[in-house]
Amino acid sequence: MSVPGNLFILSAPSGAGKSSLIKALLAQPSERAMQVSVSHTTRAPRPGEVNGEHYHFVSVDEFKALIEDNAFYEWAEVFGNYYGTSEAAIDAQLQQGIDVFLDIDWQGAQQVRLRHPQVTTIFISPPSKDELLKRLQSRGQDSDEVIGERMAQAKSECSHFEEFDYIVVNDDFETALADLTTIVNNQRLKRSQQAIKHQQMFQKLLAD
Ligand code: GDP
Ligand code: ADP
Ligand code: 5GP
Repeated sequence: MSVPGNLFILSAPSGAGKSSLIKALLAQPSERAMQVSVSHTTRAPRPGEVNGEHYHFVSVDEFKALIEDNAFYEWAEVFGNYYGTSEAAIDAQLQQGIDVFLDIDWQGAQQVRLRHPQVTTIFISPPSKDELLKRLQSRGQDSDEVIGERMAQAKSECSHFEEFDYIVVNDDFETALADLTTIVNNQRLKRSQQAIKHQQMFQKLLAD
């Protein structure tokens, strides 16, 4: 029997460093395969974003058709655009023993928690409002108007921090990455997972 993959949710106000942390986490050597779930979105691709890699970019009509087809684990409207996580893709990854990371907002986290109570939820916090603004500006991807909207939204996202299992403060990047790695390893070391992984060892230890 193989160990099923773990499902992790990372939520944070836009600009807190979620995407950078997930990217760095997945670049580290790991005993188990790890993948980020690719969401569907109706927002326009940013320069450099690749369809099918960063997001599946779809029209509002296509997105609504997917909702009708029950294709989503969860979906939400964020900053006036629709975002959603496809159920089929995630279930297939978990069955293959892959640890899957969802980069979704707090609304999505609530919906996934209802359908998949074993999910591990992690809130990534910026160290301050000033630093969050600096990061959104330094990323150089969004207009001043969009940055203004995201700063306004940040307070609402942060107001949900108590709903998460873990909190990682992304002040020093390497410290935050180490904290995130600890959380992932902690999940993999749980008795429920170790019992499956080391089934034969325990059978031998318990044999007469
Ligand atoms: P970034 O966080 O600034 O890089 O911006 P993104 O455009 O990547 O994400 C925008 C928002 O949508 C964030 O709050 C994400 O957490 C959220 N988001 C992304 N994908 C999903 C998803 O599949 N489901 C839900 N519920 N939220 C998502
Ligand atoms: P998110 O995915 O949460 O919107 P990003 O990963 O795109 O955030 O990070 C936003 C910006 O902040 C990027 O330019 C990134 O390089 C930078 N950044 C991320 N973490 C840190 C950190 N600990 N210190 C300084 N800058 C950071
Ligand atoms: P961005 O437009 O900057 O890529 O994403 C904006 C916000 O939407 C982020 O906070 C991101 O986490 C969230 N988001 C991205 N994909 C999804 C998704 O599939 N579902 C939900 N609920 N939120 C998402």
